Amino acid sequence: MQENKIAKLQYIRSTLRNFPDFPSKGIQFWDVCPILKDPKALGYTIDLFEEHLKEKFSKIDHIVGLDARGFLFGPLLSQRLGIGFILVRKKGKLPGPTVSCSYALEYGTAEVEMQADAVEPGQKVVIIDDLIATGGTLNAACRLLRQQNAEVLECTVVLELKELNGSENMKPVPVHSLISLN
Ligand code: AMP
Repeated sequence: MQENKIAKLQYIRSTLRNFPDFPSKGIQFWDVCPILKDPKALGYTIDLFEEHLKEKFSKIDHIVGLDARGFLFGPLLSQRLGIGFILVRKKGKLPGPTVSCSYALEYGTAEVEMQADAVEPGQKVVIIDDLIATGGTLNAACRLLRQQNAEVLECTVVLELKELNGSENMKPVPVHSLISLN
Protein backbone atom coordinates (compact mmCIF):
# COMPACT_ATOMS: atom_id res chain seq x y z
CA MET A 1 0.00 0.00 0.00
CA GLN A 2 1.29 3.48 -0.79
CA GLU A 3 2.69 5.39 2.17
CA ASN A 4 0.41 8.28 1.46
CA LYS A 5 -2.62 6.03 1.56
CA ILE A 6 -1.55 4.41 4.84
CA ALA A 7 -1.01 7.82 6.44
CA LYS A 8 -4.47 8.97 5.34
CA LEU A 9 -6.10 5.80 6.70
CA GLN A 10 -4.26 6.14 10.02
CA TYR A 11 -5.36 9.73 10.32
CA ILE A 12 -9.02 8.88 9.62
CA ARG A 13 -8.87 5.95 12.07
CA SER A 14 -7.48 8.23 14.79
CA THR A 15 -10.56 10.46 14.63
CA LEU A 16 -13.12 7.68 15.14
CA ARG A 17 -14.89 7.27 18.47
CA ASN A 18 -16.65 4.32 19.97
CA PHE A 19 -19.63 4.56 22.33
CA PRO A 20 -20.41 1.34 24.22
CA ASP A 21 -24.08 0.51 24.84
CA PHE A 22 -25.52 3.04 22.37
CA PRO A 23 -28.33 3.12 21.27
CA SER A 24 -28.98 -0.01 23.32
CA LYS A 25 -27.07 -2.31 25.65
CA GLY A 26 -24.44 -4.48 23.96
CA ILE A 27 -24.03 -2.25 20.86
CA GLN A 28 -20.62 -0.68 20.24
CA PHE A 29 -21.56 2.44 18.33
CA TRP A 30 -18.92 3.81 15.93
CA ASP A 31 -19.30 7.54 15.51
CA VAL A 32 -18.25 9.13 12.21
CA CYS A 33 -19.14 12.69 13.33
CA PRO A 34 -15.47 13.53 14.12
CA ILE A 35 -14.55 12.83 10.48
CA LEU A 36 -17.04 15.48 9.40
CA LYS A 37 -15.79 17.95 11.99
CA ASP A 38 -12.22 17.65 10.73
CA PRO A 39 -11.77 18.93 7.15
CA LYS A 40 -8.50 17.02 6.78
CA ALA A 41 -10.11 13.71 7.79
CA LEU A 42 -13.11 14.33 5.54
CA GLY A 43 -10.87 15.30 2.63
CA TYR A 44 -8.76 12.16 3.10
CA THR A 45 -11.90 10.00 3.25
CA ILE A 46 -13.18 11.36 -0.04
CA ASP A 47 -9.66 11.12 -1.59
CA LEU A 48 -9.46 7.42 -0.73
CA PHE A 49 -12.94 6.65 -2.03
CA GLU A 50 -12.21 8.57 -5.22
CA GLU A 51 -8.83 6.89 -5.82
CA HIS A 52 -10.29 3.43 -5.23
CA LEU A 53 -13.28 3.90 -7.53
CA LYS A 54 -11.25 5.50 -10.34
CA GLU A 55 -8.78 2.64 -10.18
CA LYS A 56 -11.41 -0.11 -10.13
CA PHE A 57 -14.19 1.09 -12.47
CA SER A 58 -13.91 2.72 -15.89
CA LYS A 59 -17.49 4.00 -15.77
CA ILE A 60 -19.91 4.77 -12.93
CA ASP A 61 -23.18 6.56 -13.71
CA HIS A 62 -24.26 7.47 -10.17
CA ILE A 63 -23.33 7.28 -6.53
CA VAL A 64 -26.29 6.10 -4.43
CA GLY A 65 -26.34 7.16 -0.77
CA LEU A 66 -28.19 5.44 2.06
CA ASP A 67 -30.34 7.36 4.54
CA ALA A 68 -28.90 9.00 6.56
CA ARG A 69 -25.13 8.86 6.93
CA GLY A 70 -24.55 7.85 3.31
CA PHE A 71 -25.79 11.37 2.54
CA LEU A 72 -22.83 12.86 4.39
CA PHE A 73 -20.18 11.32 2.16
CA GLY A 74 -22.02 10.52 -1.10
CA PRO A 75 -22.56 14.01 -2.55
CA LEU A 76 -18.93 15.01 -1.89
CA LEU A 77 -17.72 11.86 -3.64
CA SER A 78 -20.07 12.19 -6.61
CA GLN A 79 -18.96 15.82 -7.08
CA ARG A 80 -15.32 14.69 -7.18
CA LEU A 81 -16.19 12.05 -9.75
CA GLY A 82 -18.33 14.45 -11.77
CA ILE A 83 -21.41 12.20 -11.61
CA GLY A 84 -24.87 12.38 -10.03
CA PHE A 85 -25.98 11.47 -6.52
CA ILE A 86 -29.16 9.49 -5.80
CA LEU A 87 -30.91 9.10 -2.43
CA VAL A 88 -32.24 5.87 -0.99
CA ARG A 89 -34.47 6.94 1.89
CA LYS A 90 -36.54 5.46 4.63
CA LYS A 91 -40.14 5.03 3.52
CA GLY A 92 -42.39 8.05 3.15
CA LYS A 93 -39.76 10.78 2.71
CA LEU A 94 -39.56 11.19 -1.07
CA PRO A 95 -42.09 13.03 -3.27
CA GLY A 96 -43.56 11.73 -6.52
CA PRO A 97 -43.73 8.13 -7.75
CA THR A 98 -41.43 5.88 -5.74
CA VAL A 99 -40.31 2.26 -5.68
CA SER A 100 -39.54 0.41 -2.46
CA CYS A 101 -38.10 -2.75 -1.01
CA SER A 102 -38.68 -4.17 2.47
CA TYR A 103 -36.16 -5.92 4.68
CA ALA A 104 -36.13 -7.69 8.01
CA LEU A 105 -35.00 -6.01 11.22
CA GLU A 106 -34.34 -7.78 14.49
CA TYR A 107 -38.00 -7.14 15.30
CA GLY A 108 -40.35 -6.47 12.38
CA THR A 109 -39.52 -5.01 8.98
CA ALA A 110 -38.42 -1.71 7.43
CA GLU A 111 -38.54 -0.33 3.90
CA VAL A 112 -36.11 1.61 1.72
CA GLU A 113 -37.39 3.77 -1.08
CA MET A 114 -36.16 5.75 -4.08
CA GLN A 115 -37.76 7.91 -6.74
CA ALA A 116 -39.00 5.82 -9.66
CA ASP A 117 -37.12 7.93 -12.22
CA ALA A 118 -33.83 8.07 -10.27
CA VAL A 119 -31.98 5.44 -12.32
CA GLU A 120 -32.37 4.12 -15.86
CA PRO A 121 -32.11 0.45 -16.82
CA GLY A 122 -28.50 -0.59 -17.37
CA GLN A 123 -26.96 2.25 -15.40
CA LYS A 124 -23.98 1.39 -13.22
CA VAL A 125 -24.05 2.56 -9.62
CA VAL A 126 -21.95 2.40 -6.46
CA ILE A 127 -23.80 2.51 -3.12
CA ILE A 128 -22.25 4.37 -0.21
CA ASP A 129 -22.91 4.34 3.53
CA ASP A 130 -20.90 5.17 6.64
CA LEU A 131 -20.77 1.64 8.02
CA ILE A 132 -21.68 -1.95 7.25
CA ALA A 133 -22.77 -4.05 10.22
CA THR A 134 -25.01 -7.00 9.20
CA GLY A 135 -25.42 -5.67 5.67
CA GLY A 136 -29.24 -5.75 5.93
CA THR A 137 -29.72 -2.14 4.84
CA LEU A 138 -27.19 -2.26 1.99
CA ASN A 139 -28.69 -5.54 0.83
CA ALA A 140 -32.17 -4.01 0.62
CA ALA A 141 -30.76 -1.05 -1.34
CA CYS A 142 -29.07 -3.46 -3.78
CA ARG A 143 -32.33 -5.32 -4.31
CA LEU A 144 -34.15 -2.03 -4.89
CA LEU A 145 -31.62 -0.97 -7.53
CA ARG A 146 -31.72 -4.35 -9.22
CA GLN A 147 -35.55 -4.13 -9.33
CA GLN A 148 -34.94 -0.98 -11.40
CA ASN A 149 -32.50 -2.94 -13.61
CA ALA A 150 -29.51 -0.91 -12.49
CA GLU A 151 -26.17 -2.64 -12.02
CA VAL A 152 -24.64 -2.35 -8.54
CA LEU A 153 -20.88 -2.39 -9.09
CA GLU A 154 -19.94 -2.21 -5.41
CA CYS A 155 -20.97 -1.05 -1.97
CA THR A 156 -18.45 1.23 -0.37
CA VAL A 157 -18.28 2.26 3.29
CA VAL A 158 -15.94 4.02 5.68
CA LEU A 159 -16.17 1.28 8.33
CA GLU A 160 -16.81 -2.44 8.29
CA LEU A 161 -17.58 -4.41 11.46
CA LYS A 162 -15.99 -7.70 10.39
CA GLU A 163 -17.46 -9.94 13.06
CA LEU A 164 -21.00 -9.26 11.83
CA ASN A 165 -20.19 -10.75 8.41
CA GLY A 166 -21.87 -7.99 6.43
CA SER A 167 -19.62 -8.51 3.36
CA GLU A 168 -20.48 -12.20 3.29
CA ASN A 169 -24.18 -11.33 3.34
CA MET A 170 -23.72 -8.98 0.39
CA LYS A 171 -22.24 -11.56 -1.99
CA PRO A 172 -21.94 -11.47 -4.98
CA VAL A 173 -21.84 -7.66 -4.69
CA PRO A 174 -18.35 -6.63 -3.51
CA VAL A 175 -17.98 -4.49 -0.40
CA HIS A 176 -15.09 -2.04 -0.12
CA SER A 177 -14.34 -0.56 3.30
CA LEU A 178 -11.65 1.97 4.16
CA ILE A 179 -11.31 0.65 7.71
CA SER A 180 -12.15 -2.80 8.95
CA LEU A 181 -12.70 -3.45 12.67
CA ASN A 182 -12.83 -6.76 14.48
P1 AMP B 1 -26.70 -3.00 8.93
O1 AMP B 1 -27.94 -2.94 8.08
O2 AMP B 1 -26.81 -3.97 10.06
O3 AMP B 1 -25.44 -3.22 8.10
O4 AMP B 1 -26.58 -1.59 9.65
C1 AMP B 1 -26.08 -0.55 8.92
C2 AMP B 1 -26.67 0.79 9.30
O5 AMP B 1 -26.87 0.96 10.72
C3 AMP B 1 -25.69 1.83 8.87
O6 AMP B 1 -26.42 2.81 8.17
C4 AMP B 1 -25.06 2.37 10.14
O7 AMP B 1 -25.07 3.77 10.07
C5 AMP B 1 -25.92 1.86 11.28
N1 AMP B 1 -25.16 1.06 12.28
C6 AMP B 1 -25.30 -0.26 12.52
N2 AMP B 1 -24.48 -0.69 13.49
C7 AMP B 1 -23.76 0.39 13.87
C8 AMP B 1 -22.70 0.60 14.83
N3 AMP B 1 -22.22 -0.39 15.60
N4 AMP B 1 -22.19 1.84 14.94
C9 AMP B 1 -22.65 2.85 14.17
N5 AMP B 1 -23.63 2.72 13.25
C10 AMP B 1 -24.19 1.51 13.10
